[in-house]
Amino acid sequence: SKMLWNGSIIDRDSLIDIEDRGYQFGDGIYEVIGVYDGNFFMLEEHLERLERSAKEIKLTLPLHSNDLIKKLKQLIEVNQLKEGIVYLQVTRGTAERGHHFPSNNTTPNLVAYTKLEETMKKEEDNGGIAVLTEDIRWLRCDIKTLNLLPNVLAKQKAVEHQAVEAIFYRGDIITEASSSNVFIVKDGEVYTHPANHYILNGITRRKVISICKDLQIKVNEETFTVQDLFSADEVFVTATKLDVVPILKVDDKIIGTGSPGKVATEIIRAFRNTIEEMIET
Ligand code: PMP
Repeated sequence: SKMLWNGSIIDRDSLIDIEDRGYQFGDGIYEVIGVYDGNFFMLEEHLERLERSAKEIKLTLPLHSNDLIKKLKQLIEVNQLKEGIVYLQVTRGTAERGHHFPSNNTTPNLVAYTKLEETMKKEEDNGGIAVLTEDIRWLRCDIKTLNLLPNVLAKQKAVEHQAVEAIFYRGDIITEASSSNVFIVKDGEVYTHPANHYILNGITRRKVISICKDLQIKVNEETFTVQDLFSADEVFVTATKLDVVPILKVDDKIIGTGSPGKVATEIIRAFRNTIEEMIET
């Protein structure tokens, strides 16, 4: 298949140098953008977040947003991607190894490629289980950087427990999950961690919050505790392509009735409608 490398669409081929800063330091940022029936879902929001991440780590993107949109659309077209994701990453470029930023004539490496991926309808309909794990990440989780080792270790723990996610706690507070945001429902109201430096402000999270507003479900962007999670009526997680997945059990504790809840089910239905509407227009 083809890939995007800075401004050019080329054969997918390894041209990343061993001194790429992403490879050696995780010195870069990324986005995972969902594709449904050949359409990007919330592309502008993803690229805005990419620009924000770039700014926060003092990296200048090699392409302007409009050019990038054009190239990404071209990429899914030449690869004939219908259902899946585009993975996009930008590193600080290739330079002789040294922790400090390389000289100004080093250009960032932007790469993007496509990956087939089905929407996790089975998980959405049936729900899944989760494990808790301590949030040992740095304090800028709002930046979507390539430094994912804590997330890798957390997800591995989930997999070893046949769980869909590992949910992070920092002290008493639930922050998010290894690659998704966490929501709880209590007495008909939804709670999710505020979008600050402790979490990544998920694009799916934002969509779910706006869907809740449309459905007149109250959303509280407030912190909640591990105890609140265990005693919630419902728990669900959100992420690109995962969409919205109900969590029925966390560690050994059953959440609510132990089956997908009313609120999550309503949100999933509305979320699917949003995607259908996008595909039709
Ligand atoms: N939190 C973390 C730590 C993530 O890695 C992800 C997935 N990128 C999310 C939340 C969900 O973000 P989004 O809805 O934009 O995929």
